[in-house]
Amino acid sequence: MTDNRQLANLGLFESKVPRYTSYPTAPHFTTGVQRPEFERWLRAVKPGASISLYVHIPFCRRLCWFCACRTQGVRTDDPVHSYLGTLMEDIGQVGLALPEGVTLARLHWGGGTPTILSPKMIEMLAGRIKQFMPFADGAEFSVEVDPSEVDEARMDALAAAGMNRASIGIQDFNPEIQKTIGREQSFELTAATAEKLRARGIHSLNTDILYGLPDQDRASIEDTTRKLISLGPDRVALYGYAHVPWMAKRQTMIPEDRLPNSISRLDLYDAARKLFLNAGYSGIGIDHFAKIGDGLDVAAREGRLRRNFQGYTDDRCDTLIGLGASAISRFPQGYVQNVSATAGYLAQVRDGKFAAARGHAFAGDDLLRARVIEELMCAFRVDLDKIEAEFDEVEVDLRLELARVHQKFSPFTRQTNAVLEITPQGQPLTRMIAREFDAYSMDAAGHSLAI
Ligand code: SF4
Repeated sequence: MTDNRQLANLGLFESKVPRYTSYPTAPHFTTGVQRPEFERWLRAVKPGASISLYVHIPFCRRLCWFCACRTQGVRTDDPVHSYLGTLMEDIGQVGLALPEGVTLARLHWGGGTPTILSPKMIEMLAGRIKQFMPFADGAEFSVEVDPSEVDEARMDALAAAGMNRASIGIQDFNPEIQKTIGREQSFELTAATAEKLRARGIHSLNTDILYGLPDQDRASIEDTTRKLISLGPDRVALYGYAHVPWMAKRQTMIPEDRLPNSISRLDLYDAARKLFLNAGYSGIGIDHFAKIGDGLDVAAREGRLRRNFQGYTDDRCDTLIGLGASAISRFPQGYVQNVSATAGYLAQVRDGKFAAARGHAFAGDDLLRARVIEELMCAFRVDLDKIEAEFDEVEVDLRLELARVHQKFSPFTRQTNAVLEITPQGQPLTRMIAREFDAYSMDAAGHSLAI
């Protein structure tokens, strides 16, 4: 309780801060970066480099009320067919602009619901990608699999296409809570999907659940967590539900008066976290857990954990290309986001143009601050000497800022020379501490609760 009072004094329970999957964060992207930069940065990828590719499928059969993803509900396959045709054109134009010998170390299909694609569509999309960007040795190919929108034939097609990691969204196993958030998906269906994927040789399973949903209490989240652990996932993301109805209109269906308050959210997070740790999972960054020996666990132990738009990763590629409506690319030179609206994306690509619409070119101390924030988010610790050694030239000295941050957050931080560490009790404050190193204004967007 003493900790809670101190955390409250620091503003943990009412602060709204970014999740820092990028720095600067997407609300700071501008139209100052568009197609010319995208093309120039694409052509500057080193010949023979290994890169990552994200493909966005912005369609779902049902629109779950809690979900803030950019996606649209579809009843027929026509819009999906039409989108896929354009995506194939986009893959071609991006592939042709890349230099010789580029291979894929990581491929991720996200959405929306990638498993809305029929087996034939899965085969076509995977074939087109491999035609222009073949897999590197040991490549990882992951797909977000919706248990309600996948059948045996689709699973066969995904396995044949080379998928070796599946991601299953769960949120909560309690049927009443599922009704309240507009996403019904029984434990039995999820368990059967996991089993069928494993039977096809897909042994790496990611899952995610949410804390902070309406009517959740300690007993319910413990029940969901135990059920999830019984499925033996390799990785788990335990995200805080972000209630942002001004950005995601569907969330107006969520009864606000039944949402747990911030102190209860911290309690729910703690309850689930303890169960994962007791079950032998290792804690990864602020909200992930991994089995001992999993790639994320190893990367965290070796200090190689990174953070990107999909959360925590052990991906070391410095180029991530995002294809599809609203997808974001990251190059060593900056970020580029595609046109967000599906219709706009289709129009631009059909016109023979790249779909780049906005972005950010790294300048000044962006990359230094990005690394400091990433280190805090990944390791709860930052060593300025070590980070500065990664740069030829250092634009600003962050030591004064580091000392100020320590003064503000002590006793939840410790400082030794140029090293700032967040104590285990202070870890819920991590996003707030990271924000202290963010040089951009916080007013540009409605961020989610710090806890
Ligand atoms: S949770 Fe998945 S299926 Fe539901 S709306 Fe979001 S992306 Fe679509």
